[in-house]
Amino acid sequence: MNRDGNAQNLRLVSGKGKTSGDSGTPFDALEFVQSLSSSLELGTVLARLHEHLHSQIQHSGWFFILQESDETWSGGDEDRHRIEYGMSFNGEAMGSLILMRGRRFSDAEQEKIEALLGLAAPALANALRFQRLSTSLETDELTGLGNRRAFEKQGAQWLADCRRQDRPMSVLAIDLDHFKQINDEYGHTVGDELLRLVAQTLINTTRESDLCVRMGGEEFLAILPGADLSSAMECAERIRLAIAALRTRATAGDTSGLESDGLVKVTASVGVATIGRTSTLQAAYQTADEALYAAKSAGRNRVLAGNG
Ligand code: GH3
Ligand code: MG
Ligand code: MG
Repeated sequence: MNRDGNAQNLRLVSGKGKTSGDSGTPFDALEFVQSLSSSLELGTVLARLHEHLHSQIQHSGWFFILQESDETWSGGDEDRHRIEYGMSFNGEAMGSLILMRGRRFSDAEQEKIEALLGLAAPALANALRFQRLSTSLETDELTGLGNRRAFEKQGAQWLADCRRQDRPMSVLAIDLDHFKQINDEYGHTVGDELLRLVAQTLINTTRESDLCVRMGGEEFLAILPGADLSSAMECAERIRLAIAALRTRATAGDTSGLESDGLVKVTASVGVATIGRTSTLQAAYQTADEALYAAKSAGRNRVLAGNG
């Protein structure tokens, strides 16, 4: 079943703003809307929505799947009876909400859910707007990777997690070699294409649990939670080789300085640092950066470990 969660059939709202469900639990529509709108954080809004829904229909679990990215939030336990609602607000699709329970949802309960979702839709739409804004502030526009802000936010959280779990964490500083020359010879469009290819290469050569960011210009950083120095060095070497294997076509008209096969290539130097018990994320970044510049001085297209 697919229904719009817009605010039209508000059957639950009585003249006094309170009504009672079949479950006998009184429902305060004003309190419901206020509780949802008092947070902009999507996870919190969804959790509050389900607390209220649960008091009315006693579902066992739920999923919310974001329309634009398929990112999923969930809570409770899965069960065999499922009901799905396409949530939208002002004509804009927000996502799918799936409710689960051991027994089927009656028609009266479905009406109740629809009314509650209609009331919840504006708060959900605001939380989604906030989520999009937060994501865009942490995203590098050219490559779609995270940016410096993402590194600082995510890195600090992960470092705290690794410390608590007594796991190592490593940082790789990656800088493209002679990139100015590539731009000068082939133009910015080709340079930009290489930056996008490098970003994709970083994603492909690291784990899903790692974070790759573009710090600016032609400098990237990878954070590897759980990686000690030797596995970080292995990863860095994998990245270096994969970048050196990249090729892109020069745009028409650019013929100077091309490889004999007509393709443009690039190499990268990588500095590696492992975060010690007492060091900070910034200190590890600095150590990795120093190693990176040592790799540049040593001839580029190589990986070096820092002394952090
Ligand atoms: P090195 O091997 O020492 O790192 O030399 P390099 O030329 O890579 O380093 P330098 O810092 O001198 O130049 C970096 C160049 O990166 C300058 C600029 O043309 C290029 N660059 C920075 N941001 C972008 C971008 O967004 N797009 C493109 N196409 N080029 C960029
Ligand atoms: Mg460079
Ligand atoms: Mg640079």
